[in-house]
Amino acid sequence: MAEVAKVEVQGGRIPGPKAKAIIDLDNEYTSTSYMRDYPLVVDHAEGCYIWDPDGNRFLDFNAGIAVITTGHCHPKVVEAIKNQAEKFHHYCSTDFYYEPMALLAEKLAKSAPGDSKKRVFLTNSGAEAIDGSIKLSRYSTKRSKIISFLGAFHGRTYGAMSLTNSKPVQKKGFGPFVPDILSIPYPYCYRCSYKLRPEDCDLYCIRYLEEVVFDRMCYPDEVAAVFIEPIMGEGGYVIPPDGFHQRLRKLTADNGILFVADEVQSGMGRTGKMWAIEHWGVEPDVICCAKGLASGMPIGAIISKADVMTWARGSHGTTFGGNPVACAAALATLDLIREERLMERATAMGARLMDGLKALQKKHPSIGDIRGIGLMVGVEFVKPDGRPAADIRNEVLGRAFSKGVILLGCGASVIRLAPPLVVGEPEIEMLLRVLDECLDEIGG
Ligand code: PLP
Repeated sequence: MAEVAKVEVQGGRIPGPKAKAIIDLDNEYTSTSYMRDYPLVVDHAEGCYIWDPDGNRFLDFNAGIAVITTGHCHPKVVEAIKNQAEKFHHYCSTDFYYEPMALLAEKLAKSAPGDSKKRVFLTNSGAEAIDGSIKLSRYSTKRSKIISFLGAFHGRTYGAMSLTNSKPVQKKGFGPFVPDILSIPYPYCYRCSYKLRPEDCDLYCIRYLEEVVFDRMCYPDEVAAVFIEPIMGEGGYVIPPDGFHQRLRKLTADNGILFVADEVQSGMGRTGKMWAIEHWGVEPDVICCAKGLASGMPIGAIISKADVMTWARGSHGTTFGGNPVACAAALATLDLIREERLMERATAMGARLMDGLKALQKKHPSIGDIRGIGLMVGVEFVKPDGRPAADIRNEVLGRAFSKGVILLGCGASVIRLAPPLVVGEPEIEMLLRVLDECLDEIGG
């Protein structure tokens, strides 16, 4: 059995006896595939804070991986869940009608960029939205090939995993994968796969599609869709250079290829706009979302141009997707994003966070790159020669935990900062102080 607690926690306070008992029980009976990088046991949570069963309080700068949009247990989300739970819990969305689902579909359809009418299919998760979108793309274009990106993470089901190229451990032992998927380098200028410079590369990562993929690997009219995270999540919080998404949109539109934006991590106002792709003025054909949609209740969505989502009655469905309790939580989340001006807050707090991180970067040479839009911010740690410093990143994660701050890694050596959108100045100050302390201790 894998050892759960991999991090030396200073002072031996965490995990305390109650947390330790839960970890031991879990360790005995749960799947060996769970990662559990450090021994956080959640007992209850509120706003940006989590308490463990021994009474230790943690600042949550991870939001359950960009899920807790409105903060933990926002009273209005709790109320919406309670109200719906008292009415009914389930009535298969594929076969019957209920108001929360119709209302949510309308809101999501109207939230998507562009003037064209949209339709919505509700799912349980991000991976289910991605898998459904693979089916939808193939069905509607009558083409089979799909293009995805190196470093991309789209989920754990077979279709989503087949598009994924984030870490070998996520695929090793599970092949063969869904056929007809090609993966090309993501526009990651800090570590360009082609060793080019953004100043003079003329977006070679797009030209590669035209000059290499469509010239040597397949014709454009064989390709159903390009699946892309507008900002890469699990692969390292990577932001493409300006112009990339616009050129990809033009190239795909010119060739009848669908542009599928995987906004599972970057959506729901986290970047200061409802959908990250809006920062580049692009209208995708399909948007996949999940994670932050219902502030913690499991739900996802495929939001598609209506002229793409024309598949035949009965061709796609789900038992639990669009569960009414989850729909109610999603409707409350969407209302709160507007009422509490959470997108404006994400922009303002994200700017404050970036300023603080830039000041830290001047002091700590191990901080190689800082990149972010709104509250989707990545800090990449490097060795003196510029190679990724996973050891420093991991040490910071463990030390921050022992000081009461919950962080999560991504990419080779990046820490992702994705707090609930209700985060305020005091939480940002605490995060910056703890990062500074950790790096002082490590000498990084
Ligand atoms: N797409 C992206 C960009 C993700 O970050 C994730 C999960 O981390 C998924 C898809 C899969 O979502 P889920 O875990 O809900 O299946």
